[in-house]
Amino acid sequence: MAEKILILGGAGEAMELAKKLTAEGHDVTTSLAGRTREPAPVAGKLRVGGFGGADGLADYLAAGGFTRLIDATHPFATRISANARVAARRCGIAIERIERLPWKKEEGDDWLEFATLQDIREAIPPGARAMLALGSQHIGAFASRADVFFLVRMVDAPTSPPPLADHRIVLGRPGDTDAEAALLAEHRITHLVCRNSGGALGYGKIEAARRLRLPVLMLRRPDGGGVA
Ligand code: NAP
Repeated sequence: MAEKILILGGAGEAMELAKKLTAEGHDVTTSLAGRTREPAPVAGKLRVGGFGGADGLADYLAAGGFTRLIDATHPFATRISANARVAARRCGIAIERIERLPWKKEEGDDWLEFATLQDIREAIPPGARAMLALGSQHIGAFASRADVFFLVRMVDAPTSPPPLADHRIVLGRPGDTDAEAALLAEHRITHLVCRNSGGALGYGKIEAARRLRLPVLMLRRPDGGGVA
């Protein structure tokens, strides 16, 4: 039986799921926060922007007559996931969670793992050349490190310059291992800073750091688990 499904998107898995469920004949709406100016096309319907907290999401689910809610947001997007749990409970519908597994450390990886970005900031040695492979909302955490060069990759050009003394912005999405290794080498990067997001798309930089024997300063999952 065809169902009315709301997918909370933001990670690539949400797009694949929307395609599959739409092809199965369900009435699928994917919701995005609106952080990316030109999101990839999605199967089914698309809505963009916040709901106004758990209450707003519950109202949206009820008004739209949704029968399934699927949380396929990024593993570090904790607020929307918490709101989704509350809203689903309020509406009496089950919530399904699609979450990528974290990456596991492999032979040759030089990972230092941290619970907070502030801890990572303090761990970067003076004079380092660090690549920040983080959401743009996290860049400000490194503002006090004027003694470090930062390479910042962003999907969209920022509307205001990042609060970093010595930096370079590269626009683009994550590439494969060869492309990531070339980028790290071109900018003489000494440290890679990233989150343990998991998934295939962002893994190229991890493999590139392994190939180049670079230390990776890795933010653990918000639940504290997952890293071998
Ligand atoms: P967050 O802190 O959990 O969410 C902040 C607020 O953004 C939420 O309270 C909600 O606003 C709105 N929001 C988030 N996801 C939404 C969605 N799918 N549809 C509609 N509204 C949404 O998340 P974040 O870290 O800012 O990330 C925002 C979005 O980008 C997420 O959907 C996430 O999947 C995606 N993303 C995040 C990361 C990351 O590193 N955190 C990386 C890649 C993609 P209201 O309270 O007003 O409803």
